[in-house]
Amino acid sequence: MVQCAMRYYSTRSKNNPVNFAAAALTGLAPDGGLFIPEEIPQYPKAALSSLGTMDYRDISFETIKPYVQSEIPASVLEDMVQSAYPFEAPLVGVGDRLILELFHGPTAAFKDFGARFMARAFAYLRRNEEKPLHILVATSGDTGGAVADGFFEVEGISVTVLYPKGRITPLQERQIAGLGGNISALAVEGSFDDCQRLVKAALADENLKKKMVLSSANSINISRLIPQAAYYTAAAGIPGITLCVPSGNFGNLTAGLYAMKMGAPIRQFIAATNINKTVPDYLTSGEYQARTSQATISNAMDVGAPSNFERMAAHFSWEEMRRIILGVSVSDEETRETITRVHSEYGYFLDPHSAVGWKGVDKLQGMPEVTGPVGILSTAHPAKFAETVEPLVGHAPVPDSLARAMQRTIHSQTIPADVSALLEKFL
Ligand SMILES: *Cc1c(COP(=O)(O)O)cnc(C)c1O
Repeated sequence: MVQCAMRYYSTRSKNNPVNFAAAALTGLAPDGGLFIPEEIPQYPKAALSSLGTMDYRDISFETIKPYVQSEIPASVLEDMVQSAYPFEAPLVGVGDRLILELFHGPTAAFKDFGARFMARAFAYLRRNEEKPLHILVATSGDTGGAVADGFFEVEGISVTVLYPKGRITPLQERQIAGLGGNISALAVEGSFDDCQRLVKAALADENLKKKMVLSSANSINISRLIPQAAYYTAAAGIPGITLCVPSGNFGNLTAGLYAMKMGAPIRQFIAATNINKTVPDYLTSGEYQARTSQATISNAMDVGAPSNFERMAAHFSWEEMRRIILGVSVSDEETRETITRVHSEYGYFLDPHSAVGWKGVDKLQGMPEVTGPVGILSTAHPAKFAETVEPLVGHAPVPDSLARAMQRTIHSQTIPADVSALLEKFL
């Protein structure tokens, strides 16, 4: 059987379609847009009818396959999902809600799901290249660790992670700047939005492009987004579930939208943000207004100009988005109160991001859209944010991978938040 490759377009123009390899390896389209698939494929009926009992790796395989077929052979993809996901995405009951625990990977946040597939896909797609690939990635905290861990010691690929100095936790900093080897770390004197701006500018810089083969690994990269759709589909083993997604850059929620469009029986999404509520405000008003990000205790969501919004807007009108997504915003005070209350009522530890999700559901409870089973994506392990969690509810058990990371020494350089300072490091 001849398989057609999926084509990917820029969110800004339908003129220059590329294949998966090009979309993944270049990260950002030449016109500054984000790559999106020309169509969202449909899950086979047989897969949808057996979701409740399917193995997570098999769901991943079915999810990713149509996006990469003819470029990554099925047997290679099979090996990739087996080796990328030696852990689960369990749905656990807490009171009358479900928590989709996405923190059982090596860096204890959901970003492991995207980064671990991406690293394997990049290594495979570049298997015949001689020039090394350099990946630039901006992080608000968790992306950097997941990408660093995913690509650590991958041959022919080096990574530079930019993070906002002083705005990530000591553990996150060790996950990013403690590996060494092919992973470099830059502490930027600015916000996450500054880091993201620097990366975008460097990726577009003609001189730099002449000198090295560059790519990005942010959630703007389609190869991170697609594998994340799999855990939404796994959660839809409970058909008609409403899923609340603690959101910052909106890559995670966009992956959920893909899962739903592929046919996963998800009833409704809730997009819960901290006070950086650009998207909830858009859902209310229909007017998109990016802002400067503000620091909160859910720092991986401190994003005022969420880059994946461009992808959401390319697939859905405002009216459609409003039907599928309820927006809600949660303050730091409400987040702390929620961590305390959920622990005292159920003995369950929530990290600050997941607590934003829990509180978001509280705030919308009673709306007709929020009846039936409700699941909250737990995007990070509580021990990852011990600075916030411990004073409120004591010590959450620490996974081994985090205990090991805490022992590492930080090796990073500080740069001001301007593009020339970043370019100087390479040119
Ligand atoms: C990255 C991150 C988020 C936000 O995810 P987006 O895809 O950027 O919306 C939420 N929680 C945690 C713990 C994260 O690391």
